[in-house]
Amino acid sequence: MTLVVRARRVVTPEGERPAAVHTAGGRITAVTAFDDAPPGALTLPDDEVLLPGLVDSHVHVNEPGRTEWEGFASATRAAAAGGVTTIVDMPLNSVPPTTSVEALHVKRRAAEGQVAVDVAFWGGAVPGNADQVRPLHAAGVVGVKCFLLDSGVPEFPPLDDAGLRAALAEVAAADGLLVAHCEDDRVVAAAPPPAGTSYAAFLASRPAAAEETAIGRLVAAARETGARVHVVHLADADALPLLRRARAEGVRVSAETCPHYLTFAAEEVPDGATSFKCCPPIREAAHREALWAALADDDVELVVSDHSPCTPELKRLDVGDFGLAWGGIASLQVALPVVWTGARARGLTLGHLARWMAEAPARLAGLPGKGVIAVGRDADLVAFAPEERWTVTTLLHRHPVTPYAGRRVTGAVRRTWLRGEPVDGAPRGRLLRRGVP
Ligand SMILES: [Zn+2]
Repeated sequence: MTLVVRARRVVTPEGERPAAVHTAGGRITAVTAFDDAPPGALTLPDDEVLLPGLVDSHVHVNEPGRTEWEGFASATRAAAAGGVTTIVDMPLNSVPPTTSVEALHVKRRAAEGQVAVDVAFWGGAVPGNADQVRPLHAAGVVGVKCFLLDSGVPEFPPLDDAGLRAALAEVAAADGLLVAHCEDDRVVAAAPPPAGTSYAAFLASRPAAAEETAIGRLVAAARETGARVHVVHLADADALPLLRRARAEGVRVSAETCPHYLTFAAEEVPDGATSFKCCPPIREAAHREALWAALADDDVELVVSDHSPCTPELKRLDVGDFGLAWGGIASLQVALPVVWTGARARGLTLGHLARWMAEAPARLAGLPGKGVIAVGRDADLVAFAPEERWTVTTLLHRHPVTPYAGRRVTGAVRRTWLRGEPVDGAPRGRLLRRGVP
């Protein structure tokens, strides 16, 4: 299989330029001048830009065990349609959770033969499984995830500070990575509980201070153990100085944020609109704007979906109760246009976007074949029309519930290639291991 794609705008790590991307056997073999292409080369129309396939390192597929919430087939087809050629599956909401090597095997068997794009896996760190951290890393997970407060499912309990240190000691020994849901259990327990349909009450029940306290706990444990850590789905911009200070002191800590924190604002979420419920919550517009600034300054390095769907019934749209509804936003298929819509409006470029949504997640997850258009990498490519406007309607997620429904966005995925082959929903994806190109 050889494929040569050329475009007037190709986004490479060195910047955007006219180029021809040559591939063979699923890998990129050369990136040459636009005119240096064989007769059979595919030339993209002038309104399309060639991007690296996106890497979404935060996806809850929920299979096996809660396949009625999403599943590998529907998740990876939605990913492909959204220009995402690699997803990394989170360890919880599936049953069993991926907290042992045996459970990882169960999950890999469930995914096998079903995936339209490549899939890698996070392991889980829960109380009592520190002895599984090194075997999970050896078995190819990209790292382990933990919670610092109730995760929402009983089979994936949170770590206390002693448990966090025990896990991080193992992570450090494996030269691995721990990613953490950073909201503090005590701060949230002391806040007023959510009350019915009021978004303001829900927001007050998960205060920004809970993120800062939990990030402080994570940073302290990382400093003590020397382990590499990462803050998932940062919503609270007031935590940024804490992260900057920790990094300046040599603590290995990075952070990601998500399309919903960059798009919506608490002031605009209608009461009863539980499709917007996620944890940590969508905060006020000032947080959103500060998160954009942090991305531009590289203080936050990744934008990933935290695609976390459930059945429509569990979103409790019937009563609109923020206390009862499952917390999680479905967005895998629309993350690229949604983030581009916001980035473009703020004068940021497709080069920024490729860094946040492909290069940085591939680096975080230790997937050396992924994330950039460069010689030796997998030929995972996306033809993207950055000026096309459209309205989010039917998506390929298993369920249609998403706060993006009906939203006008700019930028459309026209075509996607995985290892040089057009992605058409057929199960040609592979199951990836950390560090294997
Ligand atoms: Zn998540």
